[in-house]
Amino acid sequence: MAGTVNQSFPGKVDGCLAAPAPWLFALRCMVCGEPAARGRDLCIPCHIALPWQGPACRRCALPLPQPGECGHCLQSPPPLGEVHAVFDYAFPVDRLLPRLKFHRDFAAGRVLTQCMADRMAALPLPDAVIPIPLHRARLRGRGYDQALELARPLARALGIPLLEHALARRKTTRAQSRLDANARQRNLRDAFHVDAKRPLPAHVVLVDDVMTTGATLHAAARVLHQAGVQRIDGWVCARVA
Ligand SMILES: [Zn+2]
Ligand SMILES: [Zn+2]
Repeated sequence: MAGTVNQSFPGKVDGCLAAPAPWLFALRCMVCGEPAARGRDLCIPCHIALPWQGPACRRCALPLPQPGECGHCLQSPPPLGEVHAVFDYAFPVDRLLPRLKFHRDFAAGRVLTQCMADRMAALPLPDAVIPIPLHRARLRGRGYDQALELARPLARALGIPLLEHALARRKTTRAQSRLDANARQRNLRDAFHVDAKRPLPAHVVLVDDVMTTGATLHAAARVLHQAGVQRIDGWVCARVA
């Protein structure tokens, strides 16, 4: 891809290059390697070419010919008020999310969070943002929680409180990606519990990296409803269609 769009690539860097500042590594587009747009980790053509989601069902974020509600959500309304996805789960988002999730690539997370903040800023903002928590055993193994890594800077960018510990996982759930939809439901029953010590606001948004069947988000939304939250929306980085 041509790198002629961006003329802001800095020239000479003052001082010794023996210990370059971390931002020096962020000057190249993380998709194509061309100079990145100022303050971003992507070049402008790659930013435009991201798989931005088009019209979709507002209850489940599955693509539709025009915005509205899909037949499935009309027939059996999900426990989430609205769900918004920034991307379809396609190239290069299907590479950037695993880079964050499995390889601690926080620059990939930063790119995705900036895109989420740009899109979500136009939505009705909630009273608080709650990340879908990882089970503690898996958190110990991996060291960080990708939903939290997206939710924290997103909440900061939008000026919304982050309720990091409002939800917790109750028991080990097997890796959802290996299970079919029914098994996911069984696996997730009672998977979450709400921290009863803290009062919850009326309107919260659950943040997760990828939505596949929605079973995880729905399970979390059900316990929040039981805890008295009136409206629960979902914001995800990418939707698997
Ligand atoms: Zn690029
Ligand atoms: Zn739907």
